[in-house]
Amino acid sequence: MTLLRSGSATDTGLVRSVNQDLAVETSTLFAVADGMGGHAGGEVAARLAVDALSAAFRRQPTGSGLSQAVTEANAVVWQHSRDNPELRGMGTTLTAVGLVNEGGQDVLALVNVGDSRSYRFHDGELTQITTDHSLAEEMVRTGELTTAEAAVHPHRHILTRALGVSSDVAVDLWRIQPVRGDRFLLCSDGLTNELELGQITEVLTSVSDPHRAADLLVQAARTHGGSDNITVVVVDVVVGDEVDSSPVVTAMNADFAPVPTASEEAAAVAPDLYPTSVAGETQPSRRERRKAKRRERRIARGRRLITFRTLLFVILLGATLAGAFYAVRWYDTNSYFVGVNHNELVIYQGRIGGFLWYNPVEVQRTGVTTADVPAQYLDQLNDGVEESSVASARSYVANLVTTKHCQLDPSSPFCSPSPGPTTSTTAPPTTAATVPPTTTKAP
Ligand code: MN
Repeated sequence: MTLLRSGSATDTGLVRSVNQDLAVETSTLFAVADGMGGHAGGEVAARLAVDALSAAFRRQPTGSGLSQAVTEANAVVWQHSRDNPELRGMGTTLTAVGLVNEGGQDVLALVNVGDSRSYRFHDGELTQITTDHSLAEEMVRTGELTTAEAAVHPHRHILTRALGVSSDVAVDLWRIQPVRGDRFLLCSDGLTNELELGQITEVLTSVSDPHRAADLLVQAARTHGGSDNITVVVVDVVVGDEVDSSPVVTAMNADFAPVPTASEEAAAVAPDLYPTSVAGETQPSRRERRKAKRRERRIARGRRLITFRTLLFVILLGATLAGAFYAVRWYDTNSYFVGVNHNELVIYQGRIGGFLWYNPVEVQRTGVTTADVPAQYLDQLNDGVEESSVASARSYVANLVTTKHCQLDPSSPFCSPSPGPTTSTTAPPTTAATVPPTTTKAP
């Protein structure tokens, strides 16, 4: 038979204007949630999470039931943030202790997501059970930081796991045998960021009433800075098994070794201090870590970082401009015309009169003067006569010369039997003349 007695306290702190922390105290379920998200997001997330957790745990008051309740709470917060655009991005931490009966034995089931913490105060010693899902903690685990460095590291507030920020969440679960005289401390990071472990231990040692102890801890964190919301729940095991000193070892692993049960849930029990993970892997993935790191860097640089979207825009804009440039150039350079320059017929590349920033370029001076061509074509030539290639421009000029020649000497062998150019003033002269095209080589 296990009986618990609890007390809690919460405070906005000295810096924040709203309190997004939430404490839960019932006879069998205790929890701390630390909400996050702009506007009312943090408060909404914390409230939704603890309500969903309580309801689900009531339906299935077991260890795996508590873990499942966290998963359900995650789904509720996630769905709500998707349905309400103004709450998008909200989330919360959640650590909870539930008294359950498994295989006829009372067991304390403990769950955690995020960087709120659960401690066990046993025999005058305070030990952290949960592992923070924060970037700093990950760096400690990989040896990049010491615990002392992590406590003041700028990344210590960056979470690698939180509730309600994605469709799925990995939940850490422990099973602990309740021992009479043990105290459990659940708190938000607003407490642990302000107080040393020794200061917390001192209060838990000297103040026996759980509500008064919780109150004192919150007040102490306030006077030490109070830079964040502070929330504390103290849970005392008042009736339970006596401390059995013979098999219990002082090592932490033995202290938190899972309670063996005959049920199928024994399979999910943690083999050591590391928690069992229910949905997904226990450790945040490399990707999660990298993502959190990037987020932190972006915040640190005040969003001066170029985003992928901006980059994509610049690339697309560049491609569009280049495309337009080449289209214009293609349009321009793909055309030729015959014009007159100082009485000489000249073949130009480009559009007559130029196009946009392109002016016609002289390709070939023909050596043919205006006197060499029929007078009726001069107006046309002065305006410019379009041709599709240099070759066709050349043969056009050659035809003009032949036409003039035949006008002067119709008996010329070049001019038989054709009557000469058409009377049309727009069409180029027909090639009635036997002058071979310039592109064709004479045999
Ligand atoms: Mn906090």
